[in-house]
Amino acid sequence: MAAFAQRLAANVPGDFFVDSTCIDCGTCRQVAPASFAEGSDWSFVHHQPAGEAEVHRARMALVACPVAAIGVGSRHAFGAARAAFPDPIEDGVHYCGYAAESSYGARSYLIVRPRGNILVDSPRYATPVVERIDALGGVRWMFLTHRDDVADHKRFHSRFRCDRILHRADLEPDTRGVEIQLEGEAPVALDDEALLVPVPGHTPGSTGLLYRGRFLFSGDHAWWDPQRGRVHASKSVCWYDWRKQTESMARLASLRFEWLLPGHGTRCRLPAEQMCKEIERCAARMRRGTNGDRPGMQIGTTPRTA
Ligand code: SF4
Repeated sequence: MAAFAQRLAANVPGDFFVDSTCIDCGTCRQVAPASFAEGSDWSFVHHQPAGEAEVHRARMALVACPVAAIGVGSRHAFGAARAAFPDPIEDGVHYCGYAAESSYGARSYLIVRPRGNILVDSPRYATPVVERIDALGGVRWMFLTHRDDVADHKRFHSRFRCDRILHRADLEPDTRGVEIQLEGEAPVALDDEALLVPVPGHTPGSTGLLYRGRFLFSGDHAWWDPQRGRVHASKSVCWYDWRKQTESMARLASLRFEWLLPGHGTRCRLPAEQMCKEIERCAARMRRGTNGDRPGMQIGTTPRTA
């Protein structure tokens, strides 16, 4: 539980607050941008939610926070906020909320579709979201973008009997039993609407998922930097090989998609042509060394050798 005594001074006065245990994962800023903003190493309440819609989104942010760093001074009913995840984005794609501290608050997504749902990375294994996922048809595949965002994958596998997918280069003792292990750098079709696209660099086995030619689940390979208004990747949080990550970014420009849905950082939607140009520009900056090193997110893992 967040502690009022530890509330950050940057919070505007009022009911909602963020305390000093915040790990700056950005979840609250994604869920309720009207109320939460980015500080230097944390988030804070920049505007107290006003009206039912804003209060609901702020409650959802509180529920989703991986470390319970968001508090309220008055009594609230959280039932509707707990039941609001997975939160629909578009075309059966949902954001799961319930971020896990073990993946440093990484975003996870649920793709609901008749031929079998796909859970992209792992939310916290919390009863409300597990029951909602069950009601939405469960999980046929659990696609893990890379080794750092696997969180509670074993519990989801056990509950839904889903096949987990992870690149072999990112296997660790905890994930050795993953059912489908990808190899190499060539894209692999899971079926005719889901393409698995290796993007080595951030980690050796980082892989994206292109869904219906519209949604790219990018893990920690790339995300949107709202302050600079562009697609971004950061050398300071590249744990494996920046040159490889640059090559992977350049290859991505050959794919068409509108939505960039990252593990950390902000998601965005652009017309496909513009997205392609943004990816090309990002790759060019990475090649020239002019990308800037503002992480734009905290990932919270330490570099490891491959
Ligand atoms: S959701 Fe993340 S950024 Fe927001 S208060 Fe919690 S830890 Fe901090």
